[in-house]
Amino acid sequence: MNQTWNFQNTYTSLPQKLFSFQDPVPGLEPKLVLFNDALAADLGLSSLDANAEETAAIFAGNLLPEGAKPLAQAYAGHQFGHFNILGDGRAVLLGEQITPQNERFDIQLKGAGQTPYSRRGDGRATFSSMLREYLMSEAMHHLGIPTTRSLAVAKTGLPVYREKINEGAVLTRIAASHIRVGTFQFIRQFGTEEELQAFLDYTIDRHYPALKNEENKALALLKAVMDKQIDLMVHWIRVGFIHGVMNTDNMSIAGETIDYGPCAFLNIYDPKTVFSSIDQNGRYAFGNQALIARWNLAVFAGSLMPLIDSDEEKALALAQYAIDQFHPLFMEKWYAMMYQKLGITKPQEEDKTLVNEILELLEIHKVDYTNFFYHLRFGTKGKATIYSDDTFSKWYKKWEKRQSGAASYAMMDTNNPILIPRNHLVEEALDAYVKGDASVFNDLLEQLQQPYYNEQRETIPQLVPADFDTCYQTFCGT
Ligand code: AMP
Ligand code: MG
Repeated sequence: MNQTWNFQNTYTSLPQKLFSFQDPVPGLEPKLVLFNDALAADLGLSSLDANAEETAAIFAGNLLPEGAKPLAQAYAGHQFGHFNILGDGRAVLLGEQITPQNERFDIQLKGAGQTPYSRRGDGRATFSSMLREYLMSEAMHHLGIPTTRSLAVAKTGLPVYREKINEGAVLTRIAASHIRVGTFQFIRQFGTEEELQAFLDYTIDRHYPALKNEENKALALLKAVMDKQIDLMVHWIRVGFIHGVMNTDNMSIAGETIDYGPCAFLNIYDPKTVFSSIDQNGRYAFGNQALIARWNLAVFAGSLMPLIDSDEEKALALAQYAIDQFHPLFMEKWYAMMYQKLGITKPQEEDKTLVNEILELLEIHKVDYTNFFYHLRFGTKGKATIYSDDTFSKWYKKWEKRQSGAASYAMMDTNNPILIPRNHLVEEALDAYVKGDASVFNDLLEQLQQPYYNEQRETIPQLVPADFDTCYQTFCGT
């Protein structure tokens, strides 16, 4: 079947203040560098020929696909706790692709030039940072974690000035939608109550249709988004993902991981780990992410307030009660996830101690988080000092008693990745690609498509160069 573009543009039916029509600004010399065939097939875009000039032109923003009605979305957000008016400063939504399975996905070009929301930005993105987003988002997808995805990277042929001159590129981002907590903040701030209601109805219709007949739709949406965010945080913690910039504009209402700027993966287990150069106070540290998710959800609740109840006090009480459920719900799901990492198939209350004790030991002995679970699973030992600690030997004996053979192994295999996008590997791959050698990147991308144990293939733990992390920094918006 010759499947191709099948756009709807429902976002344009929303109050006009939520977006601005904006065409992508053409590049100079489009060149398609990465194209995700499997994702293209899922989207119903298998007819696109990655070698055709027309395809490169589309993904560099030089040619509009049929049915596209490009727009930039308005939103606001709390950035590091401070409220700002934002919006797509370097992205345009082409439209919503309806797939052969009748699913709806936003197709957005990121790095396609200035928009009315660019403020002082150039609307562009470097080739290296778009490669990074492609790699990280696809790795997250294959780890089984809800995320926006990457369909293509196309060079624009335009220079992008950061600290030095870089090649410019456009990433094609695929998302359930780009509705953020910050979008609700925006419409609450600048819209009428009717407009807020219309946006709430749109969001429920699109992402939570089961809530359509709820008596208190706003409260029901708050709870549903909270559930999704709790699941997402638990996933991130499971694999050691550090988002790095969990501003409210970077939190998706659909519960997907979005905005791969300064993200990184944990090597040594330490909840205080931060890699982002601008996160000096550790607001978005590895171990702080659930707390921040709750903070962001409180902001979300704030923007829904008039729809929760017309009586302000009553609305506040209802919202507060909902947010208070975050902690117990999160802890329950977090322990359940940790039991899975440890292969505990029939958890008991006492197993909480087993979890708490091992995390304390991992931190004390500066153990590699991912490799620890590999060694535990395969009965081997890494180099860390933990393996000669008596406290660990005692813990190990207790842990062994809580195992149920093959069922435990299977559980550990599906919950503990062996291969993750290690910071040093990501940097090596990007450096080589920017210098013209794509092979390191492509090899890594392929490996990361099978991050879990697989009988057919021998996988050994990844070694991390000593001290790599002590000077590793990531950057936003490059
Ligand atoms: P982020 O930190 O990526 O979430 O971006 C925060 C805000 O800055 C968003 O409104 C972006 O659209 C905007 N932004 C980031 N980089 C650029 C750029 N190069 N040009 C224009 N706007 C940008
Ligand atoms: Mg953002």
